[in-house]
Amino acid sequence: MIRQTLYFLFLFLSFGINAQTSNFDNYFEDNTLNLLCYHSGRKGLEYYTIDQTYITNQWAGSKTKLFDNTNLGVHRIEVYSNNGKTLVYSRNYCSLFEEWQTTAEAKNTCGNFEEVLRIPLPKEDVEIAFFSRDSLGNWYKIVSQKIEVKNTEFKTLNYKLYEPYKLNVSSEDISKKLDIVIVPAGYTQKDSLKMISDMKLFSDFFFSKPPFSEAKEKINIWGQCYFSEQTGIAGLDSTINPNSFLGVIYNTFNSPRYIMTPNLFNLHEILINVPYEQIVIMCNSETYGGGGIFNFYLTSYVNPKNGFVLIHEFGHSFAGLGDEYSENDNDVEGATQKIEPWQKNVTSLKDFSKKWKDMMEPSTPIPTPITKEFENKVGVFEGAAYVNKGLYRPYQDCLMRSDKPFCPVCTKEINKMLDFYTE
Ligand SMILES: [Zn+2]
Repeated sequence: MIRQTLYFLFLFLSFGINAQTSNFDNYFEDNTLNLLCYHSGRKGLEYYTIDQTYITNQWAGSKTKLFDNTNLGVHRIEVYSNNGKTLVYSRNYCSLFEEWQTTAEAKNTCGNFEEVLRIPLPKEDVEIAFFSRDSLGNWYKIVSQKIEVKNTEFKTLNYKLYEPYKLNVSSEDISKKLDIVIVPAGYTQKDSLKMISDMKLFSDFFFSKPPFSEAKEKINIWGQCYFSEQTGIAGLDSTINPNSFLGVIYNTFNSPRYIMTPNLFNLHEILINVPYEQIVIMCNSETYGGGGIFNFYLTSYVNPKNGFVLIHEFGHSFAGLGDEYSENDNDVEGATQKIEPWQKNVTSLKDFSKKWKDMMEPSTPIPTPITKEFENKVGVFEGAAYVNKGLYRPYQDCLMRSDKPFCPVCTKEINKMLDFYTE
């Protein structure tokens, strides 16, 4: 009886896997459709417009995990086939637009932000639905748009211009690997030797911290050869022109150490010959700074002695982890304290059963005092996501807070995400 049950279980499992793979082959070609969108609006209002499209070779993402069931992020796209009847692909992410929406400027003016959304190339016309979260954290649909595959004139690009390096590429089966690409910003042709040695440094940093150090065989790291117009990163040094092709700049939204770029079309254009799922912008600067947005990109300055900022920002951009630090002058109750935040390593205790409660010892009090007794124990410690009160972190210290190893909760979330990309 047991043997028969196992047999049926095996049949069911193998059918499930085959059904998903054939779903990919039924609906998609092994190429990528790049959608160049404008994400525009102001506080409380947003819209998407697809401006241009182009096709690049190969699909770097999973061919079996076509649906994003992580419930992370603040935006979500869903791709429907069969005249809008069959969901064939979904993906969650965050954006620079959403961060700008929280600034004072967004109350009175409209913003228009570039975004590049990448989906496997559909075989037939599809509909793409754009969603964002409302103030209660629930998804709402912004708009649905048709993508004609047969009758569309795709943008043509000069593929000869951009050659990638293989920094840590152990297998060409890219659909079963997490493919990370390192993009150099602020390196001119004169800095080419430094550019290559910094790329190797960044690649080594990835594998210097657990759990990435134990997942080397799951990760491909590519480097994009690209030379900027001027050495260094604009935003703090007035001798560097901020209007570069890549547009990478310090002082984003008046936060001096926050390095970002609004030039998403150009950023993705230089990557047309690389199979990539995560973008790392390596900034040729020794001044502390960086930033990471979930499924968007990350930036980090280069410090040969310390890869902490790079890995911390990758925690944001890869696994959607929240910051576990607070700022002393920030005791104001924010919107996220009234609801349970979507970040898996931060809780407001409004719905804690969905977070890391199962990883705590039953005797550990909630909230947990920040004392020696609960050092190196999973608990619920007040102070996270920039506020001192009302939001809680799972560990007294963690890489999402300072230069320490990832806590058990963050490690678990990163491992789950690694499986999502590579199983
Ligand atoms: Zn953590």
